[in-house]
Amino acid sequence: MSTTGRVAAIIAAAGQGRRLGRATPKQWLPLAGRTMVQRSVDAFDACHLVDEIVVVVGSDAAVPALAARKPLRIVRGGERRQDSVANGFEATGEGAAIIVIHDAARPFVTTALIERTIAAAREAGAAVAALAARDTVKQVEGGSRDVARTLDRESIFLAQTPQAFRRDVLRDAITRGREVSAASPLAHATDEAMLAERAGHAVRIVLGEVANMKITTEEDFALAEAMLDRAGAAGPGDVRTGVGYDLHRLVEGRPLVLGGITIPFDRGLLGHSDADAICHAITDAVLGAAGAGDIGGHFPDTDPRWKGASSLELLREVVAKVRDRGFLILNVDAVVVAEHPKLTPHVAAIRESLAGALGIAPNRVSVKGKTNEGVGELGRGEALAVHAVATLRKS
Ligand code: MG
Repeated sequence: MSTTGRVAAIIAAAGQGRRLGRATPKQWLPLAGRTMVQRSVDAFDACHLVDEIVVVVGSDAAVPALAARKPLRIVRGGERRQDSVANGFEATGEGAAIIVIHDAARPFVTTALIERTIAAAREAGAAVAALAARDTVKQVEGGSRDVARTLDRESIFLAQTPQAFRRDVLRDAITRGREVSAASPLAHATDEAMLAERAGHAVRIVLGEVANMKITTEEDFALAEAMLDRAGAAGPGDVRTGVGYDLHRLVEGRPLVLGGITIPFDRGLLGHSDADAICHAITDAVLGAAGAGDIGGHFPDTDPRWKGASSLELLREVVAKVRDRGFLILNVDAVVVAEHPKLTPHVAAIRESLAGALGIAPNRVSVKGKTNEGVGELGRGEALAVHAVATLRKS
């Protein structure tokens, strides 16, 4: 068993892709902006076990540009798949101890599957990614549509690529493919593992992946586009986070307003407006996430218009502004630091009130109370502080 030695990847992209019924072979068609060949190259380029990449293209095809950080060579294929792989093999460096072959028509191959296949080939000499049959397998004879027998599903695996080989094993397989008569089924082997098996080598199965589908028909292509669409929609997209902080003195003779809710207490927050520190911190967090300045810039306290203003209304205005800039508010979280009063009995009402101003569901708004353990100004009850974060998505 060898655990070292360079690894070369051969990406088979020479197929004519006639089944897709378009002028350009399928592997060169853009799939959500990137061709299948480039997607396959990217997967091997990202795999730290792979040292070099050889792409085998059609003998007369024009070759669109391919990009990789690793050494990448493009070679012309032959008449049959096995001729193309043989040309790719010749182009790999002599130092390549393991050669991993992949069909460009499987653009969803993962780095993890490539790694598993390489590791198994180092151990067993040859390895093939394959899926356990999940459907019951029926066999027919002579092109008939009548079932001749049902095969034992437990014994059936459906081969995918990558397939990886020790250099000597692949050389044997290629030689075997050259020697067979034109009438032999090996004359048009559909994978290299088949040639290695016939040359007497052990080939180990590595569990493949359902998403590692081969895109052959128009239906497959549409399915692949839908998978990428959904991945894009489900992904995080352009998500921005903002942080906000506010502190106000607690003084007698003022109402205590937090999140638009007036809380019974013997003191209130001192300020130009209603001094609602939760609303102020959240407003700054929302503006911060949108890169849209801060509360002081939007509502200067030198402006008499904001004297005694409802900070919940100001938050509502800011939400409208960031919406106009194409932002959607995903969630808001705030921590209120105060020795007194106890916030817990009011949290539900505050969340409900903030959710209304933010235009989101209350379960996307979180408010938590915290004491300062008697330490400092906050601990002595001279002031109340709020920390907040907001997460927004740019549409
Ligand atoms: Mg403030």
